[in-house]
Amino acid sequence: MRRVYFDNSATTPVLPEVFEAMRPYFSEHFGNASSIHHHGQETRAAVEHARESVAALLGCRAAEVVFTGGGTEADNLAIFGIVDAGDHVITSTVEHHAVLNACRHLESEGCEVTYLPVDGRGLVDPQDVRRALRSSTKLVTVMTANNETGVLQPVEEIGKVAAEADVYFHTDAVQAAGKVRIDVKAIGCDLLAISGHKLHAPQGVGALYVRKGTALVPMLYGGRHERSRRAGTENVPGIVGLGKAAELARTKLESGDGAMVAMRDRLEGALLRVKSSGNNGAGAPRVPQTSSMYFDGIDGEALVIALDLKGLAVSTGAACSSGAIEPSHVLTAMGMSADRARASIRFSLGQQNTMEEVKFAIGLVGETVARLRELSPKAVVSRQSSVVR
Ligand code: PLP
Repeated sequence: MRRVYFDNSATTPVLPEVFEAMRPYFSEHFGNASSIHHHGQETRAAVEHARESVAALLGCRAAEVVFTGGGTEADNLAIFGIVDAGDHVITSTVEHHAVLNACRHLESEGCEVTYLPVDGRGLVDPQDVRRALRSSTKLVTVMTANNETGVLQPVEEIGKVAAEADVYFHTDAVQAAGKVRIDVKAIGCDLLAISGHKLHAPQGVGALYVRKGTALVPMLYGGRHERSRRAGTENVPGIVGLGKAAELARTKLESGDGAMVAMRDRLEGALLRVKSSGNNGAGAPRVPQTSSMYFDGIDGEALVIALDLKGLAVSTGAACSSGAIEPSHVLTAMGMSADRARASIRFSLGQQNTMEEVKFAIGLVGETVARLRELSPKAVVSRQSSVVR
């Protein structure tokens, strides 16, 4: 059966060039990057080369890049590395659980956390950040791009508010890196998290930008790896993969290639013609890869399963919330009813996707929505008009 993968916000396939770059570091160049002999020096050079590539993607110095075991670890290191008991933290209601649950843990340890609302487009108001500031505020953490809707937050304005108040600013850029240009100086952040597997590098590797001079307390106790900011022998093949993926992403972003936007717009344009459908986050700036759409009267989980049976992989939102009965915290925070949030699915494109696959998806989604509406007692729209070619 033909299989089309439109769930690149959950994870992306490792690009062939990335895989080739990593390959020698499993068995040929296997040294521990901390060893002083030839084998160690070889892998140390590869790690430092990757650090330069990640730094170039983010617009920072190589020494400001700390490799981690993924995006969750990078977010946790940023938050727990800065915040002490009694501090106040400002975040948003639409963050990924890597940030939300870290904040909830802080609350259990005696910190106070303000969860800022978003508007109907999913945007945080930077003035709300300003209003939430207290003398005890230590950290503002607001994501760059949302994983469910792709909505881009006004991080540069939030960065200015944080800088004026002299509080640390962390941003989770896991869903933004490699998709839109990132410049840590323009954002004005002190900490920024990325994850390899969202930009065609392997799972289990990520990085945290830590602005020079930031007093970050490590989470792990061990050796003095990563300038004592993250103990543990480096995942050399993973880091090499992240470096290569960062290089490729940067070249692609600089070339201004509009293929992704064209595919996304074609998909959305066609699916918006399905009766009682809509785009979550419409009107807000978004990354080109992600489209969250609702089809009223449809159960999103049922649609995801029906599409999978026909060869199209999409998701109901965050991968980790699949199977959960609760509607998406992101969509409900945007003011959407629980029913409409449950009627939403996420399409997320990657470098490997083609316009031909988009056309396949358009036909399949239109037919499947129509079929499910016929079956569903909750059907709220005319059946014939659901089919899109
Ligand atoms: N932050 C965001 C916005 C994400 O989408 C994800 C993963 O879905 C993470 C953090 C966690 O990254 P990782 O899977 O590398 O731990």
